[in-house]
Amino acid sequence: MSIKDLNTPEIKAMVSLKSFNTWKIGGLAQFLTEPKNIAELSQVLTWCKRNAITSHIIGAGSNLLINDTELTGLTICMRKMNGCKIDAKTGIVEAFSGEPIPNLTRKVGKQGLHGLEWAIGIPGTVGGAAVMNAGAQGSCLADRLISVKVISLEEGNLFEIKRNELQYSYRRSILQKEKLIVVSARFKLEAGQDTNKINKLTNENLSNRLATQPYQIPSCGSVFQNPKNQKAGQIIEDLGLKGLRKGGAEISSIHANFIVNHHNATAKDILDLMATIQEKVQKKYGFLLHTEVKRLGFEEIS
Ligand SMILES: Cc1cc2nc3c(=O)[nH]c(=O)nc-3n(C[C@H](O)[C@H](O)[C@H](O)COP(=O)(O)OP(=O)(O)OC[C@H]3O[C@@H](n4cnc5c(N)ncnc54)[C@H](O)[C@@H]3O)c2cc1C
Repeated sequence: MSIKDLNTPEIKAMVSLKSFNTWKIGGLAQFLTEPKNIAELSQVLTWCKRNAITSHIIGAGSNLLINDTELTGLTICMRKMNGCKIDAKTGIVEAFSGEPIPNLTRKVGKQGLHGLEWAIGIPGTVGGAAVMNAGAQGSCLADRLISVKVISLEEGNLFEIKRNELQYSYRRSILQKEKLIVVSARFKLEAGQDTNKINKLTNENLSNRLATQPYQIPSCGSVFQNPKNQKAGQIIEDLGLKGLRKGGAEISSIHANFIVNHHNATAKDILDLMATIQEKVQKKYGFLLHTEVKRLGFEEIS
């Protein structure tokens, strides 16, 4: 079933969320839409307001655990609001929220812009990465960000927020708390750099990831944040938990901070493994491992 009038983008009903996240887990969305531009996004927000329907925002779903039950309200997937403008002379780049991070990394590299090589293997969108302050190898999205443009979920107005107002820290930003939708982000990269060098570094980073992380099996990347000066993966590995299974989920034997969906895992399977890890870490080391992954459709949203 789908709802569409002349002025709104298509809103589908009872859509499986499994193909909207990299864990390939989740129940049905009561309603789902994929706006392609700001005008369409504004229209669906108006539709929500008019019908008193709650909304949930997702990018590529590469940092999300979605519950197995029906997700009431409208899920707004930003993947189709993509594209970017690159000024190779100044290094200023403006990318729409749905632009995949690996695509952006390749596009800017080809134009001789240095500064995003670390991001190559992150399968999220620009919007999700801005919210999460995605990072790798000591770099993070906030390093090169100038500002984001957002739309308020409640008022529907569009405005810009500068980086220093976003309170960025390790995998954190105020965007995780505010009712705002990121529609685009502006970056300043280093212009006029050697494209061969950029390409070489980008390829090395990708090869390194492919060699050390389980990329071919559905996952959400690192489940837990690294405690200060420690690696969550090493802590979990030292506890002998690699390979532990619950239902269709498994603590990866390649990288212990990844929980993979090896066969029809449910959200409950993943949560059970997460709880086991947290309990064992707490018991042995006396601290709590905090989750990096966000949850959707649960009573408590982390
Ligand atoms: C194989 C693999 C490797 C990974 N490696 C890394 C890594 O090295 N470093 C790292 O930091 N992460 C990594 N991740 C996690 C993930 O890719 C990042 O967190 C990414 O930035 C999430 O982007 P997304 O578009 O998928 O966001 P989603 O997972 O869709 O959403 C994440 C959160 O952001 C919100 N959100 C998404 N888009 C918007 C928007 N436009 N406006 C407002 N809110 C929004 C959602 O509501 C949710 O709360 C990895 C994941 C996988 C599967």
